[in-house]
Amino acid sequence: MEKTFPVKIGLEIHGYLNTREKLFCKCLVPSISDPPNSRICPICTGQPGSKPMLPNEEAVIKFVQIALLLKSKINSGVYWYRKHYDWADLPKGYQLTISGTHATPCATGGKFLGINIIEAHLEEDPAQWNPESGGINYNRSGSPLIEIVTAPEFSSSTEVIEWLKNLILMLSYVKAIRKNAGIKVDVNVSTYGDRAEIKNLNSLENIKKAIDYEIKRQIENYEKGVEQKRETLSFDEKLGKTIKMREKEQAKDYRFIKDPDLPPLEISKKVVEKIKHSLPETPKQKLEKLLKKFSIGEKDAKILTKNLELVEFFEELAKEGIDVKKNISWVTIELLRILNWNKKTLEDADVDIKPKHLAELIILVERGKITPLKAKQIMNDFVPKSFSVLEKGDIEKMPREAVENICRQVIDENPHAVEDFKKGKKESLNYLIGQVMKLSNRRADFKVATEVLKKLL
Ligand code: ADP
Ligand code: MG
Ligand code: ZN
Repeated sequence: MEKTFPVKIGLEIHGYLNTREKLFCKCLVPSISDPPNSRICPICTGQPGSKPMLPNEEAVIKFVQIALLLKSKINSGVYWYRKHYDWADLPKGYQLTISGTHATPCATGGKFLGINIIEAHLEEDPAQWNPESGGINYNRSGSPLIEIVTAPEFSSSTEVIEWLKNLILMLSYVKAIRKNAGIKVDVNVSTYGDRAEIKNLNSLENIKKAIDYEIKRQIENYEKGVEQKRETLSFDEKLGKTIKMREKEQAKDYRFIKDPDLPPLEISKKVVEKIKHSLPETPKQKLEKLLKKFSIGEKDAKILTKNLELVEFFEELAKEGIDVKKNISWVTIELLRILNWNKKTLEDADVDIKPKHLAELIILVERGKITPLKAKQIMNDFVPKSFSVLEKGDIEKMPREAVENICRQVIDENPHAVEDFKKGKKESLNYLIGQVMKLSNRRADFKVATEVLKKLL
C-alpha cells in the first residue's frame, strides 16, 4: 500500500494597506501609472541623516480593522524592529517591522473560517528592483504592509484557495487593502519532513499550482529516500515548478534590533473600541441580513454578497420602492450581463450606474408601459453611465393595433418563413417574432406579438 502523509500548509499573507500616504513619510502611496521614482523623499529612499516620522495613523487604523475582523488580540506598546539584509531593494539596509525573534507582534491569535491566526503585524515595503536592467523604483519603498500568519492547518490547495477567496472578500468589505496592488503570499508546505517555504506567490492560480507541485515533489523525494530539510523556494511560473533559492535563513541572520528612532506603538483600548464599533458588516452578516430582510433566495444572496459594490447597489435599489425580491434578476442577471459584456465592474472609476435609473426602468416594465425586452435594450447603454429613461421618448409599449400592422408587414416581407411555418416548421415563428421586435424597436409586447402572428397565420 502506498504511504500517505499528513499534508500541512501554513500561509504568510502580505497585503498593501489602503492608505493615502506611506508609513513613515508624507509621500503618497504610488499607483501603477506613476512614473518610476516620482513618489519619493529622503525618508523613503533612506538618505543619510533622514529619520522616520511617526507611523501613519491611517495605516494603524486599517491594521486594527483587519486584526479585529480576524478576532486577534491587539497589543499596545509594541516595538519597531530593524530587520537587516543587504539587497538592492533596501536603501537603508533594514526594513522596519513589528516582527522578528524578540518582537511582540501588533496582533496575536485569532481565527478565520476555522483556521487559527498566529499573528499579524505592520511593516514597510522595500523598493522594487529589476535584476535585468539593474534599475530601482523607490515608489513602493516605505508603503504600509500588513502580514498575516496562519497556523499550518490547511491540508490541500483547494482548501487554501477557498479560504483566501473568503479572506480577500472580507477585507474588500472594509476597504482596508488596496485591491489593485494585489496580495503576496509565502506558502509553507510540509509532508514527511521539515517544511519548505515558497516565497512571493502573487495570484491564487500560482498558489494552487505551487502547492500541488510541491506536495508531489516532496512525496517523490520521500520515495527516493531524500531527506526534506527546511528550505526556501521560489515558484517558476513558466516551468510550473518550485525552485530552490536557499537553505532556510534563520531569524538571527536578520540581526533584528529595536529601532532607536521610533517610540513603541501605542494603540489604546479606547481607539480599538471605537474602531470596533465603526466596522462595516462582514460578508457573512450581509448575507444573513439579505436573507432575512428581503427573503430572497440563498443563491441570489450569495451572488450579491460576492461583491460589495453589487450588494450595495441592490440595497439602494430596494430603497427606491421596488419589489426587489420579484425583480432580483435585473441585478443578478441583467446588470452583471451588461457589465461583463463591457468587461467592466461597478468599482471601475469610469463606471457610474445609478440604482435610481434602473428603478425607473423596472417601474415602467411593471406598469406595462414598456416591454422587458425594451428595458434590457435600454440597459445596454447604461455602461459606463446610466441615465433617466423618463427623459427619453419613444420607448413606450406599442398599442395592439400598431403591433398588428407590424405583424402584417412582417408576414408580407417574409413569405419563405411563413410558408415554412405553415409546413410545420415551428422555429419559423420565432424568426417572425424576432422581426416584429426589430421593426417595433422592441416596443411590441412579446405575448401580443406571438398571439397576433399566430392568428394572422
Ligand atoms: P518563520 O518565522 O521561520 O517563517 P514561523 O513559525 O513564523 O516561522 O512560521 C511561519 C509559517 O510557517 C506559518 O505560516 C506556519 O503556519 C508555517 N508552518 C509552521 N510549521 C509548519 C509545518 N510543519 N508545515 C507547514 N507549515 C508550517
Ligand atoms: Mg517566514
Ligand atoms: Zn517618502
